[in-house]
Amino acid sequence: MRPLVATVDLTALRNNYLLAKRFAPGCRAFAVVKANAYGHGVREAVVTLRDVSDGFAVASLEEGAEVRAMHGEARILLLEGCFEPSEYQAAAQLQLDVAVQGEAQAQALLSASLTRPLNVWLKLDSGMHRLGLGHSEARNWQGRLRGAPQVAELNLMSHFACADEQGHPLTQQQLARFNALPATEFNNRSMANSAAILSLPQAHLDWIRPGIMLYGATPFADRSAASLGLEPVMSLTAQIIAIREVQVGDCVGYGGTWLARRPSLIGTVSCGYADGYPRHAGPGAEVVIRGQPVPLAGRVSMDMLAVDLTDLPEARLGDEVELWGRQMPVDQLAHSCGTIGYELLTKVTGRVPRRYR
Ligand SMILES: *Cc1c(COP(=O)(O)O)cnc(C)c1O
Repeated sequence: MRPLVATVDLTALRNNYLLAKRFAPGCRAFAVVKANAYGHGVREAVVTLRDVSDGFAVASLEEGAEVRAMHGEARILLLEGCFEPSEYQAAAQLQLDVAVQGEAQAQALLSASLTRPLNVWLKLDSGMHRLGLGHSEARNWQGRLRGAPQVAELNLMSHFACADEQGHPLTQQQLARFNALPATEFNNRSMANSAAILSLPQAHLDWIRPGIMLYGATPFADRSAASLGLEPVMSLTAQIIAIREVQVGDCVGYGGTWLARRPSLIGTVSCGYADGYPRHAGPGAEVVIRGQPVPLAGRVSMDMLAVDLTDLPEARLGDEVELWGRQMPVDQLAHSCGTIGYELLTKVTGRVPRRYR
């Protein structure tokens, strides 16, 4: 077997969920498991959280059906609602909670004939301008949806654009716009993603929606996951499959972009961009071998990448290489690639076997 595996620590996932709940005492929490639980495997995530989680949140009916198949009773929230009118009946059969993020969705809901009413989350556009109704639209639809035969609970939700940046002025504006709708008109209210759970108690309300923090990565650019008490869930590990010496002036990899400035030891590692390792890994990108950080050498190729082992001469063929995990935080690699942990975790491709612990 090709020596590359994503090991998923399910105990860490559970601990991170419980940590989210401790940050927001008294709140219920939708564990956000969209995008195959941020690349970790939705089945295993749901089974791990099924006896502690108050609910799950997903991005589509297909994802919702997958969670429902594993959990007969859980509340499951469709974060973007239904994409076409015919989905409402399917959502009702699956007993999903649905977001209503625009007037077309609201209209389609009121036109649907459903075998049972749905819990509805009216989505307010409080300032991100991606989804949601404006203030007066929300007031209008709140009145029309309340008591409609298609609607069980009528809830209110919104989403932060900048909660990951401490003190960003938009965040307070979004809270103010959210609070301008009368709380008493809604059964439950929900605003907080991971960043707000960790930094904005006034946004906790009735239901929190932790995503990235469940997987042990940070939502913030300037606060590490470890400093927040989060445990990394995924470790991506490969092996050294070749080692060679190169001379001064020799190049390494496609394009010959890496040039040896000293006699160097180059290791070839069994992980490439077709596995989800970022091809645009910057000069600061490192892997960990024998507990020591080691820099990349040259471009990442499809199935392999090269590392400069010159300062780790004890490295041997077959040594384990941690691309990210407990020793190399995924956020640190993401930072040196100009991206975020979210993207690296969700982009681990299907050919990488997941091993669960
Ligand atoms: C994905 C998502 C979340 C989770 O966000 P994190 O930053 O991963 O915690 C919460 N709410 C909505 C609406 C989302 O789409």
